[in-house]
Amino acid sequence: MIRIEATRLIPGRGEPIDDGVVLLDGDTIAYAGPRADAPVEATGGSGTTPVVKVDTVMPGLWDCHVHLFGTHSASPSYVFAEPVALRAARACADLAAALRAGFTSVREAGGLGIHLAAAVAEGSVPGPRVYAAGAALSVTGGHTDLHALPPAWVRDLSRWEPSIRVCDGVTGVVEAVREQLRAGAEVIKICASGGVISERNDPQHQQFTRAELEAIVEVAAMADRSVMAHCHGTAAMLAAVEAGVRTIEHGSYIDDEVAAAMRERGTLLVPTRLIGCEFLEHAGSLSPEMAAKMLAVYEDSGERIARAAASGVRIAMGTDVLLSGPDLPAGWGNNGRELPLLVELGLTPLQAIEAATANAPDTLGPRAPRSGQLLAGYDADVIAVHGDPTRDVGVLADPAAVTHVWQAGRLVG
Ligand SMILES: [Zn+2]
Repeated sequence: MIRIEATRLIPGRGEPIDDGVVLLDGDTIAYAGPRADAPVEATGGSGTTPVVKVDTVMPGLWDCHVHLFGTHSASPSYVFAEPVALRAARACADLAAALRAGFTSVREAGGLGIHLAAAVAEGSVPGPRVYAAGAALSVTGGHTDLHALPPAWVRDLSRWEPSIRVCDGVTGVVEAVREQLRAGAEVIKICASGGVISERNDPQHQQFTRAELEAIVEVAAMADRSVMAHCHGTAAMLAAVEAGVRTIEHGSYIDDEVAAAMRERGTLLVPTRLIGCEFLEHAGSLSPEMAAKMLAVYEDSGERIARAAASGVRIAMGTDVLLSGPDLPAGWGNNGRELPLLVELGLTPLQAIEAATANAPDTLGPRAPRSGQLLAGYDADVIAVHGDPTRDVGVLADPAAVTHVWQAGRLVG
């Protein structure tokens, strides 16, 4: 048993509690609440429960949209030219950096995570628990096709590169989903619209027909997996929501009609503000065509997403970090920078924290672990930070402010 005594306890959902206590019993939370109601433990001597005094205690953070590519460049043709072993080694350092920054779980939207998840789970690599999609699925000419290469090369690449997979038609998409399930995917990632970091497609255009979308959701649901849909344009969002995807990723052009459909079905929105903000600040790291698309996609998206969030669309926090190392735009280790960006959209600091904690496991639908809240019986993934993130959420953007990280009850950072 470990007893954490905190100046304030942020439960993940609900109001903060002054003078709180969290008891960790192995890999599970035994108690979280006011000190006055905490079970009395023998403390202070040898063989008794160790006491850790902290400033703020809260659930470990989730980043619901990451990529473990292990690359230093956003150029899609370049990424896959580097050896997988080299990229995996960099990605391990990225995982360690995210854990130190207070992230105890990540949901990966395509990348090497499907294999690195096992390395984390077996204890070979320190890092957040990885809930991985395997390959991000897209249509021929879609967001995860490599448009500058011959189509046969891309199909061949997908045989050994776990990140990308092109598929078309109901039969084709069903096979592609089953391949990801076979490889151990915890969630299915699709690209339902064009994207920014793909040469020859338009983020506004829908990719995948309704019949393909419904088949993807059906096959995923048979295995209790939910579907996360990359979408910028409204046609793609509406079709994906109506097909039953669990989350809309990015949501750049979200409007009232899409927001209403999401509220009705309980679809979550993962806005990924970090990648747009940081790549626009470092536009030189993108090709001129990509930089122009990034600007067009993100220009007014903040207002649209803010309006959707204010209308009651549930938000889960995701960054779209994809480059290795904290010095690059959308680089690993800076995952916490998304929280102040959510506050810029009009969320309160407590709502932004809820998006990064209590709401996050729901993005996995029926596979949601008992995580993201300080509640008895939940996973003992707990962090402590210096300062009060309910007053200044920027505390969570600073890895140096994270004083303790417990994962499954073990102090790992
Ligand atoms: Zn992404």
